[in-house]
Amino acid sequence: VNLLPNFIHNAIDEDLKNGKYADGIHTRFPPEPNGYLHIGHAKSICINFGTAQKYNGLCNLRFDDTNPTKEDVEYVDSIQEDVKWLGFTWDDRMFYASNYFDKLYDFAVELIKRGKAYVCDLTADEIRQYRGTLTEPGKESPYRSRSIEENLDLFKRMKDGEFADGEKVLRAKIDMAAPNITMRDPVIYRISHTKHHRTGDKWCIYPMYDFAHPLSDAIEKITHSICTLEFEDHRPLYDWLLESLGFDSNTRPRQLEFARLNLTNMIMSKRKLRQLVEGGYVSGWDDPRMPTISGLRRRGYTPESIRNFCEQIGVAKSNSLVDIAMLEHCVREDLNKRADRIMAVLDPVKVVITNYPAGKCEYLPAENKPNSSAARYVPFAREIYIERGDFMEVAPKKFFRLKPDGEVRLKYAYIIKCTDIIKDAAGNIVQINCTYDPDSKRGGATAGRKIKGTLHWVALTGCLNAEVRLYDYLLKDEENHTEQSDFIKALNPDSLVVLKNCKVEPSVAWAAPGTKYQFLRQGYFCIDKDSTKDSLVFNKIVGLRDSWAK
Ligand code: ATP
Ligand code: MG
Ligand code: MG
Repeated sequence: VNLLPNFIHNAIDEDLKNGKYADGIHTRFPPEPNGYLHIGHAKSICINFGTAQKYNGLCNLRFDDTNPTKEDVEYVDSIQEDVKWLGFTWDDRMFYASNYFDKLYDFAVELIKRGKAYVCDLTADEIRQYRGTLTEPGKESPYRSRSIEENLDLFKRMKDGEFADGEKVLRAKIDMAAPNITMRDPVIYRISHTKHHRTGDKWCIYPMYDFAHPLSDAIEKITHSICTLEFEDHRPLYDWLLESLGFDSNTRPRQLEFARLNLTNMIMSKRKLRQLVEGGYVSGWDDPRMPTISGLRRRGYTPESIRNFCEQIGVAKSNSLVDIAMLEHCVREDLNKRADRIMAVLDPVKVVITNYPAGKCEYLPAENKPNSSAARYVPFAREIYIERGDFMEVAPKKFFRLKPDGEVRLKYAYIIKCTDIIKDAAGNIVQINCTYDPDSKRGGATAGRKIKGTLHWVALTGCLNAEVRLYDYLLKDEENHTEQSDFIKALNPDSLVVLKNCKVEPSVAWAAPGTKYQFLRQGYFCIDKDSTKDSLVFNKIVGLRDSWAK
């Protein structure tokens, strides 16, 4: 990735100029394995790995797995797959915060020994009440003055399982009157008799995020700990912990915060996305409507398009809402270059070319993609399908598609003229009869005749049946619902439309799931993982029209 100049890089340049971090720049991407990654994480991945690339440094993948109740190996696996798919490698630098549980415990003991942490018996509710508010200072816990010996003893007994969940916590001893509430003796260890997906039953106490994160960074010798803005208030605690444990200020990690990505018509929170999965609102984490990396991949997004998007949105210090049209613009731009063009009819109506010999079939040359020398041949015969919407019985003047007595050109083939239509008892058109101009094929005597409309089509001969899934946004409006609790109400009930009777030209018969095409005149489509050779399934990735103005 090629990130635009930004404040993070300016800060790093400044550090280097001041002689800090002489051993090189080292970042990390630290997901909590409690869900699948989404496009917001892609931004963080591009910034962390991209920054390491720019400074010839290193970037770790670290699972921040210190909260066993919500975490699972399924997520650990999916996260690795997604980061790799986006195009980044961590070589042998994949770590788990849970691997540091012993070291973190020792750091906590060291804090106690330095008189900077104490065991507190207040309940969670009491701790909250004692904490005070933005306008009121907090109140000191009655357990704050416990002796170092007593604290060491109690903390060890917490670890040994003598107490129940919630009975005691370990707190940093900072300042109950600090204007920043984060600094009012934050909890750094809690009791939780929960099995961890990696350490099993070894531990019944677990470090809090605010404690584990800076120390994991320090253990890994991270130089710049890049995170999102909501951690700005936690930075003083980050620094306090490193300072209190004696880490050298010239080499210890520095936290830098950037603005989270929010997208219109999307949700950007693992917790809320999990709600969609568990509530059955989508088919899974990789539902093609989801903003997850796995959903976008299944939908047909390319890694290049997502990386480009992350480059273009830039790195800023204030929160904003990015128009989803910009993401769509990026995938359209990429697929325009790489997707083969084919013909597919999504809502077919049969056309019979009455003066074309029955039983005859021609194979007509067709282009695959711009600047590609590879060509393919599409069958043409007496019976073809066109889009129902490309015919109008009573058409307005400006309708340049097929109408009674009107002429259109069939892409790569002939000019046809509508002679009559056949309807069923209910009045639905079931067949359109046409004649063709045999000399109007490419290179023919009448090929140059001026005809306003050109239609895509698929011959019945060899054509494949397909299911095509059309997607709309998960959310009806453009508001930022990531911060709102009632987003379920804003879900779009029409976000999935399934067309079951589509007809596709035979050239796709052997294509693998994940193959992307431009369906002429319709948009970009991708073969879904549900697809089989006998029953094709396509996802619509994005339409052809670009609504994104730069
Ligand atoms: P969520 O709220 O979706 O669960 P999170 O911040 O809890 O997100 P983590 O697994 O902790 O998820 O995230 C790993 C990294 O990705 C963190 O550094 C986090 O700041 C970053 N990140 C998460 N969401 C976004 C986003 N929308 N935009 C940019 N970075 C993000
Ligand atoms: Mg988090
Ligand atoms: Mg979260």
